[in-house]
Amino acid sequence: MSSGAGGGDGLDVVAARRARLAALRSRMEILQVDALVLSHGADLPWLTGYRAMPLERLSALVVTRDADPLLVVPGLEAPKVPDPKGLFELRPWSETEDPIAIVCAALAGSTGSIAGTGSTGTGIRTVGVSDRAWSSTLLALQERLEGCRFVASSMLSAPLRALKDQSEVAALRAAAAAADRVARALQEGEVRLAGRSEAEVSSEIAARLVSEGHSRVNFAIVASGSNGASPHHDAGERVISGGDLVVCDFGGELSLDGSAGYCSDITRTLAVGEPLREVRDAYEVLAAAQRAGVAAARAGVPAGEVDAAARKVIEEAGLGKYFIHRTGHGIGLEEHEHPYIVEGNDMPLEVGNAFSVEPGIYVEGRFGMRLEDIVVVTGPGSEVLNQADHALVVVDT
Ligand code: ZN
Ligand code: ZN
Ligand code: ZN
Repeated sequence: MSSGAGGGDGLDVVAARRARLAALRSRMEILQVDALVLSHGADLPWLTGYRAMPLERLSALVVTRDADPLLVVPGLEAPKVPDPKGLFELRPWSETEDPIAIVCAALAGSTGSIAGTGSTGTGIRTVGVSDRAWSSTLLALQERLEGCRFVASSMLSAPLRALKDQSEVAALRAAAAAADRVARALQEGEVRLAGRSEAEVSSEIAARLVSEGHSRVNFAIVASGSNGASPHHDAGERVISGGDLVVCDFGGELSLDGSAGYCSDITRTLAVGEPLREVRDAYEVLAAAQRAGVAAARAGVPAGEVDAAARKVIEEAGLGKYFIHRTGHGIGLEEHEHPYIVEGNDMPLEVGNAFSVEPGIYVEGRFGMRLEDIVVVTGPGSEVLNQADHALVVVDT
């Protein structure tokens, strides 16, 4: 299997995965969770390097407090699983087997009993299941593991996954640099905007993300003119022309070692032809807000304060009602994960937290603008991973 998808996994990656498993197990201990069934979602690649295809067939890593983790995968997916390097056992299942029965046997095997088989107190009583597991998987487990309590695995994994280790920061850095190269191609006019539809520009951005090294494109928002006021606008047939602001927000997954990739996410807003004075002024406010958010990002500061710092600048300029979303989201194996940079999140930031700082100003019926970078908390400050020009770059009509 070493020549497969995970052939490039170095020793450090294996050591990192081993440390993650140990940390997860100590949280299982603290939170009294006896076992985890990690199916779709990012907990699985975080521990194994294997990202399950979002199909109906079951893929799941069964983690108990002490037995070796067991990765149950459809036989035809097994060749894609990186070399386990002793971290877990692989159990491919054939088309006629019942994978839920295999999972249940692994759970029972770890302690010899499951809740309901006696009150010895040694059985599996609380099971964490991936937040993104299919409900069909959870329903089947609930039916077979009678008497068990089920919790979301993020309860255990989210705070751990939010702390990126060095290999993860390196992967995020590489993904950001690749996204930056695409952003620069837009800013230098290499990707033509005027006279093309949003959809055409969006497909060119997607193709460039791939040619810059991404293995997958997650989204390429191109929102021009009044469409820019819709933050998640789907690129459509509108033809971009002089006087438009164009919000380009794109990202995907890039892998350094052949296993599951880490995400990029960047937004730059471009002006096609010289913008109105009022638009330029609003952009200056936006850029100042984004800088204030980045400056607030350091260890010990509650996540919500980064949001407050950015929002304050926009509010003081009298534009507060046009900033209609939170300031950012964590990023890693998933495009959106903890920590969320939102009012009310009092969790103090820690070294290794990676997240976006992306304020926006959206004026219904007229235009929108957003500026987004990924930052990693380094201690007394943060490292900004995206370096593409932060100004409102004007491109030719
Ligand atoms: Zn978004
Ligand atoms: Zn974005
Ligand atoms: Zn984002």
